[in-house]
Amino acid sequence: MTNAYDRVSLGKDSSGRAVTVNRRTKLMLELTAKASGVTPTIVQGSYRGANGASASAGTHDGGGVLDLRTWNLTAAQRNRWTAAARAVGFIVWYRTVLQGFTPHLHIIAKGDRDMSPSAERQVYAANNGRNGLKSNKVDTSNQGVPTFNYEAATAPPLPVGAYRVSLAAVAYAANGAAHFRSGQVVALNSAQNFHAWLLRTGVISQRNADVWARAIRQANWVGARSEYRAAIVRFQIRHGLTPDGVVGPRTQAKIAALMPRSTYRVVA
Ligand SMILES: [Zn+2]
Repeated sequence: MTNAYDRVSLGKDSSGRAVTVNRRTKLMLELTAKASGVTPTIVQGSYRGANGASASAGTHDGGGVLDLRTWNLTAAQRNRWTAAARAVGFIVWYRTVLQGFTPHLHIIAKGDRDMSPSAERQVYAANNGRNGLKSNKVDTSNQGVPTFNYEAATAPPLPVGAYRVSLAAVAYAANGAAHFRSGQVVALNSAQNFHAWLLRTGVISQRNADVWARAIRQANWVGARSEYRAAIVRFQIRHGLTPDGVVGPRTQAKIAALMPRSTYRVVA
């Protein structure tokens, strides 16, 4: 997508204010409308700066955030739109009268680079099943938070064997910071492919993946190693293995059995 974060106008909202979103968000909205057959009215857009509604507490200041009208939708339409939105990487909360709102959908495009700090806190809350409001109570309306962002949701399917992963490199990486510090490109590629696969299969969250990628970028090898081991522990728990963070023979066998199903080629 060229200039994903260019700002574009979507006309006026229900109060007559200009609606601004970035191209990435616009594409996500279009995909959602197409898949669900529903196009809700926008109550508030993104990039509101200091002009955001006070009830929104800064979440609409940056990119990727919108409020959508629901009173003119049936529950079936609302649910259809919500499911389609999650499938392209939107986090969707249904805000209610009990919470003090005119009912509406408050949505955040996962992974938006222009997100405001308070929207980022809401993403964190969503990942923990919370409503992201001041009370930050458990919220049953946002069950089904996507573990992927728009880029992952719309990535074309990979050819078989597209990703090559060395089991030895994966095991070495789990051993310690020395692996990441070594700068071995082949070993790092294997570790990255393995990590990407854990994300694709929902073993780790986008947030876990982002934290790990940032550690690699910043040459924070101790941080990279501990995130990586945590990801392996998650994999081991998921598959009933001893969660010790070590890629031993049983863990290697499990990886070798599962990865080729998602187009990865595993080598010793
Ligand atoms: Zn909102």
